Amino acid sequence: MRKYPAVMAAVLATTPIIAVAAQPAEAAQPAAAKTWSSLMWKALSPMDEVVRLRAALPSLRQTATVRKVAVQQTTAAQSKALAGLTAATATNVKAKKAYATAVAIRKKAKTKAERRRLNATVVQRRTQLGKSVVTLRTAETGLRNATVKLVAANDAWQAAAAAVRNAELKTATDGYNARPAGQAAELAAQVVTDTRAAFKTTDTTQVHGITVNRTVAYAFKHMIDDAAKDGVALSGGGFRTRDQQIKLRVTNGCPDIWTAPASSCKVPTAIPGRSLHEIGLAVDMTYGGKTIPNHASPGYKWLAAHAARYGYQNLPSEPWHWSITGG
Ligand SMILES: [Zn+2]
Repeated sequence: MRKYPAVMAAVLATTPIIAVAAQPAEAAQPAAAKTWSSLMWKALSPMDEVVRLRAALPSLRQTATVRKVAVQQTTAAQSKALAGLTAATATNVKAKKAYATAVAIRKKAKTKAERRRLNATVVQRRTQLGKSVVTLRTAETGLRNATVKLVAANDAWQAAAAAVRNAELKTATDGYNARPAGQAAELAAQVVTDTRAAFKTTDTTQVHGITVNRTVAYAFKHMIDDAAKDGVALSGGGFRTRDQQIKLRVTNGCPDIWTAPASSCKVPTAIPGRSLHEIGLAVDMTYGGKTIPNHASPGYKWLAAHAARYGYQNLPSEPWHWSITGG
């Protein structure tokens, strides 16, 4: 043990009092439990995104198609604008030449009357030249605008096409990420130990009417929902208090409450204080509204094939009992 100077010792002596006063009413979730939750979120949440993307794909494809048509239309509009500019340029060049010719001819006039007559032609050609310049400027603006629209349409199409490719790529798998789930499984025993040490009833929450520890709520809900999508109606009994566990020992015909092993009861029932139900980390699963009776039950078969994905394991002696350690 380290020795502290007298002043430091005085500070340390007062610190706990301050700490207790400043602490929130509920203890923080154990670190291992927090990590387990976040690992399972990493494992399962990409599946949610895949479901969302799968649903979105038809409309993403539709958007890409609409935008591709817009690119075709704006391309055609730009070609038309370009043709307009080419024509306007040609007209302008012609008008310039015609004006220059008229001016040159006027210079050669020999009489005043002839000059006046040629002057009228110069004025007329100058007016035509002026008109051709206006048309040329309009055509230039038209091409510029059409090009801006084409670039925007093309960008929008590219973005829509990229969204389709991204969705197709992601929906090629179901999104499940096995690695963090494996890491969570390795942590499960520690989660149980730490949770038991700090457990409060307020650490539980309801998932489809089943009371479970908040730590497992997301993963557990995912499991129930995914089973339902496969047509397997799972439910169950999760959290029970110490008192309920004691009553269950009596109901299930255990030789005594506190010492007889679970297997000695008519229905296997853990000694109070040892059950994972008491910390909301175990669920006795039902299939179609009835407790899963054996390994032949479709409910058991679905769980045996899938539950590990969601961090759940079976206690082999009890086909209905599933927890994060299988204990
Ligand atoms: Zn159980």
